[in-house]
Amino acid sequence: MDFKFGEKEEKLRKEIREFTKKELPPGWLSSMLEEESDDKEWAFAMSMSKKLAEKGWLTMSWPEEYGGKGASLWEQLVYSEEASYWGIPGVTMGIGGVDWVGPSLMMFGTAEQKNKYLPLIASGEPDGIWCTAYSEPNAGSDFAKIRTRAVREGDEYVINGQKIWTSAAHRARWCWLAVKTDPDAAKPHNGISVFVVDMKSKGITVRPLMNYVGLHIFNEVFFDDLRVPAANLVGKENNGWYQLMHSLGYERGSIAGRCYGYNKRILDELIVYTRGNGLFREREIRHKLADIAVELETQKVLGYETVWKMSKGDSPVYEPSRDKVFNDHILERLAMLGTEILGGYSQIDPLSRNCKWTKLNGHMEKLFWLFLGFAFAAGTDEVELNIVGQFGLKLPKSY
Ligand SMILES: Cc1cc2nc3c(=O)[nH]c(=O)nc-3n(C[C@H](O)[C@H](O)[C@H](O)COP(=O)(O)OP(=O)(O)OC[C@H]3O[C@@H](n4cnc5c(N)ncnc54)[C@H](O)[C@@H]3O)c2cc1C
Repeated sequence: MDFKFGEKEEKLRKEIREFTKKELPPGWLSSMLEEESDDKEWAFAMSMSKKLAEKGWLTMSWPEEYGGKGASLWEQLVYSEEASYWGIPGVTMGIGGVDWVGPSLMMFGTAEQKNKYLPLIASGEPDGIWCTAYSEPNAGSDFAKIRTRAVREGDEYVINGQKIWTSAAHRARWCWLAVKTDPDAAKPHNGISVFVVDMKSKGITVRPLMNYVGLHIFNEVFFDDLRVPAANLVGKENNGWYQLMHSLGYERGSIAGRCYGYNKRILDELIVYTRGNGLFREREIRHKLADIAVELETQKVLGYETVWKMSKGDSPVYEPSRDKVFNDHILERLAMLGTEILGGYSQIDPLSRNCKWTKLNGHMEKLFWLFLGFAFAAGTDEVELNIVGQFGLKLPKSY
């Protein structure tokens, strides 16, 4: 069996590699989590995002009328693999815009919403940056229990409540917001709706939540009598649960897809380090590296299967959850092995990236702290496994 891509895809791969050489400093190794950037890194990522948009790569598989190039999902996959392998900043720039808000709007949005928001996302400009607000202090995995409330008043909805763990809310121009529109629905998940919210509106307060490494990724977001035009409701009122299952599928699939390139790069860097430091003589290290290499091949093939199903017009249900949970597992193993290989060097604070003792740009320390977060973001591993059990293995629902 040969998984070779066609000429078009290989040409694109070459172009991206040339772009990378031209635009990024030598030896560049970047984090996957753009939302953790400080102001300087963010500005660089924004400038790259604009360049990617100008190349037509940022949203290449979108229809041309919305700022895409009508490229195939396979071209999109090659772009995603290369961009994450080389760590091109600005790729995850949409913080949701490119990967899940845009595709969800294409599925459920009105013509007006599509015409307004999709070209903004495709532009790579700050006005195309989104945050996603689902989680609340008392509703995470049990998302149907959210309490942020939207009440219709004439041509507007009035929104009150609080969100938490909202990544990049401090950077975002728009918010993809899940709220309760019918708290009395017989089944709680039947009372949820999705809104597009302008983060510059009166009635929104964003409060930073530093994570345990001292990085600013998360925020609390408070809504106090926020007035949103009824035209900002996405899809049907109280149909949010169904719509968000699609959005979360896009999100999970994109995390797994983007991480594959990053994981491969980290593995390659660890192999170079192992070689350069004589560690290749240790059988245990060789075996562990080989083990992860096998897992990465598996991850690649799983991801290709998901894209193949999408390219046939299917809407994969459990596959993005499967791919994400497998990715989380690989991230954990990479973090553990990287830490073992780098030894004491792996403990250098990831924030002191320019310290002379820092290896791999501080990535092993950072990955060690962050892999657990990946196993929570966009749904915990247990929740993902529940989905695989229910929809992939057709087991009866257990919760
Ligand atoms: C890096 C990162 C970025 C994030 N970004 C965002 C964001 O931008 N927007 C946003 O809205 N949220 C965001 N989140 C929050 C994330 O969606 C929640 O953390 C997640 O949904 C879990 O909710 P919780 O933290 O309340 O944990 P809980 O739901 O309280 O879970 C606690 C534990 O119980 C387990 N558990 C719960 N229910 C079940 C079940 N039915 N079966 C088996 N086990 C179960 C969980 O797996 C977990 O181990 C982010 C989180 C992280 C770590």
